[in-house]
Amino acid sequence: MNDVFMNTYHRLPVTFSKGEGSWLYDTEGKKYLDFCSGISVNLLGHNYAPLVKAICEQAAKYIHVCNYFHSDVTAVFAQKLVQACAPAGMKNVFLANSGAEANEGACKLARKYSLLKYGQGRHTIVTLKGSFHGRTITTLSATGQEKFHKDFGPFTEGFVHIQGGDISALDKALDGKKVAGLLIEAVQGESGIVPQSQEFIAYAEKLCAERDILLIFDEIQCGLGRTGTFLALEQYNVKADIVTLAKGIAGGIPAGAVLAGEKAAGVFTTGDHGSTFGGNAVASAAGLVVLETINNPEFLKEIKRKGEIMLSAIKSHPKVKEARGKGLMIGFDIEGDSWEFLSAGIARADKNQCGLLMLSSGANTIRLLPPYSLTDGEIEQGLSMLSQLLG
Ligand SMILES: *Cc1c(COP(=O)(O)O)cnc(C)c1O
Repeated sequence: MNDVFMNTYHRLPVTFSKGEGSWLYDTEGKKYLDFCSGISVNLLGHNYAPLVKAICEQAAKYIHVCNYFHSDVTAVFAQKLVQACAPAGMKNVFLANSGAEANEGACKLARKYSLLKYGQGRHTIVTLKGSFHGRTITTLSATGQEKFHKDFGPFTEGFVHIQGGDISALDKALDGKKVAGLLIEAVQGESGIVPQSQEFIAYAEKLCAERDILLIFDEIQCGLGRTGTFLALEQYNVKADIVTLAKGIAGGIPAGAVLAGEKAAGVFTTGDHGSTFGGNAVASAAGLVVLETINNPEFLKEIKRKGEIMLSAIKSHPKVKEARGKGLMIGFDIEGDSWEFLSAGIARADKNQCGLLMLSSGANTIRLLPPYSLTDGEIEQGLSMLSQLLG
């Protein structure tokens, strides 16, 4: 059956047919605790009743109108999203469908801002080594990992990668005559959960402000409550010029967003950018439920609390070499091969016991991005499975 797919994914041997809360069930009825939530997409867990209801009700009204017209539900979603990102300095939004598309939009926005103010030649975007920004030709250029930079060139020009945490490299790279934007993840996800230091982020904000370089936060994986604040950048007490979101923004329906602060909010004019599905009505209805649930101090505090329980237990396991994280975004290094570890998590599922779903980040690193629906009992169950798998 899988012969019909292009061979782009390393798929584990399990086929799911049903989900409920923090659990997935395979076609044989075996049960798995979901510690990956579809790479931080199913933030509210599976079959979350208010989300399902909102999607069904919207689908029955209308699924889509194109961006030649206004949509009532999309207008409310956009307004709530901008409000939720106001602490980061955001003023307006462009709605897209995915992370790569959102980052493409952010790069276009930064380049046009710079072009309008300074003219040609000031278009470079600086990003960090170990970053992940997407799979299109331009967002691959932005992605600071060698393994992605082969086979598909020529890539989009004008991207420079520096080491996160290296303040003097940052100072040198942020050339006010050449650079339009600095694109960073406050906590790198794909490369194994790597939080940037307070010092580095604060310095980045200062340099960008002094040199009028737009500071762009890719919050696609670390945003939306994942680290215990609505946006991860809030924990660094900085503001952004542009923020990108995607993954869990509509709880499992494809969606993405580019948000702009004071400097960039008025840069795009009619015809500059667009997207057929951007702001789709069903995605907007789903996104509203996500925002209403997550953007709540008590809910965010719970994410932090749950994450702390998990991280401290994982850190203290003798077989774990190193563990890192913020909120429910946790990475740890193991002695063995990460894919074997993920396979063992699945293989343990049988009639009598459940399996554990996790993600890898390279050869020996495991990444956990559980749904926020996780209960204390489920955390305990998951940690006990993890402990058994670690041996
Ligand atoms: C997943 C991810 C992307 C790309 O998102 P897609 O929706 O797969 O295009 C970009 N940036 C970060 C930080 C991500 O985690």
